[in-house]
Amino acid sequence: VANNIGLDLGLTHFCITSAGEKIDNNRFYRSLEQRLIREQRKLSKRLEVAKKHNRKLDECRNYQKQKVKVARIHEKIANQRTDFLHKLSSRLTDENQIICIEDLNVKGLVKNHKLAKSISDVSWSEFVRQLDYKCAWKGRTLVKVDRFFPSSQLCSSCGHNDGKKELNIREWICSNCGTIHDRDINASINIKTEGLSGIA
Ligand SMILES: [Zn+2]
Repeated sequence: VANNIGLDLGLTHFCITSAGEKIDNNRFYRSLEQRLIREQRKLSKRLEVAKKHNRKLDECRNYQKQKVKVARIHEKIANQRTDFLHKLSSRLTDENQIICIEDLNVKGLVKNHKLAKSISDVSWSEFVRQLDYKCAWKGRTLVKVDRFFPSSQLCSSCGHNDGKKELNIREWICSNCGTIHDRDINASINIKTEGLSGIA
């Protein structure tokens, strides 16, 4: 395999590749997340009712039933996530010899949405773990780029550092060479370039 690739952890997507692919996972979770929020709300209401009537939780059948329901949704989400991550890490390690990633797992992603955020965070570290051992199995190289490398500030065309970009800026024009960049694709190309330069 002669391909090398850079991966950037996205805000709007699970990850973005230097080949220009934006990989979404939200669609797997979105409907389940909504259900989880709904059922969790129901659970806390039942807890309130139990407290109000001074009842022991062990004896509240409605509460216990709801608790099981919530646990099942958690399990379902975890299974779907694992399945998604395994498929993706298998494909990427099949298709590429060197995979460059950022050495971090939190990027303030999915603002104001604690649940989605925790899912994304867990996913990324699990994803890196899978890439790690699958690269070892298949004789590939996983390169981790320093977390302070300014992947979203550099122009991947001319190397100019264009300065900090706010999170809501999805596209920008290099003030030096005029290239129009998709924020995430540009970042993943920079991660690839930086990663490859480190092992050359
Ligand atoms: Zn430029």
